[in-house]
Amino acid sequence: MSIDRDKHETEITAAVLLVLIAMRDTLASFGSVSWPAFEASIVKAIEPTLVATFEDSSIDLAQRLKAVKPEQFGGGAKQWANTRAREIARRMRENTEQRVKAARERSTPDTFSNEIEGVFNPSRAKTVAASEVTASITAGERETADDITNKTDGKTLTPRWQTEQDSKVCPICRPLHGLTEDDWPEALRDGPPAHPNCRCELSWKTSILKPEPAGA
Ligand SMILES: [Zn+2]
Repeated sequence: MSIDRDKHETEITAAVLLVLIAMRDTLASFGSVSWPAFEASIVKAIEPTLVATFEDSSIDLAQRLKAVKPEQFGGGAKQWANTRAREIARRMRENTEQRVKAARERSTPDTFSNEIEGVFNPSRAKTVAASEVTASITAGERETADDITNKTDGKTLTPRWQTEQDSKVCPICRPLHGLTEDDWPEALRDGPPAHPNCRCELSWKTSILKPEPAGA
């Protein structure tokens, strides 16, 4: 994998952080916020980077597999990113709304702004960024693999789970390292991320891929 995932993670972290901070300040000042507006802001904050990451990883894999016209891969990026961004935003809204409600119940008007600090912790933005960049890379690569498989009659491309292989690799991902798709647990059949903050990736067996004939 040779795409710049740090750049994409930084973009999402910054954009989500801005939404969280604005939300926290509005709540602290006025005591209430528009949750549909929060959800829409999260979609806006993450969707463009999901599109870019998906496209980058689709093209990157196509290049590594020596596909003809690699720049034409990644056509499903916008649709995938829109669905994904809406799903993530909905989950963030539900979670945030619940936690704000709980904070309100246990606080007085004087302590409310302190209580919600934790709800809008910057680490939430970083976690979403890491997980969603991983998801975009996986989705982008899978689309390229499917496209190439469809074009090269009878050939298949098999993904293998790759952890970062350092001491931080979590107990969920460690046993998955090196396994091919058929051996992944049912709940993880889409591939990485396996959990929040998962930075695992896929490796693709390229040796079975025959180059397309010239002019194809
Ligand atoms: Zn992982």
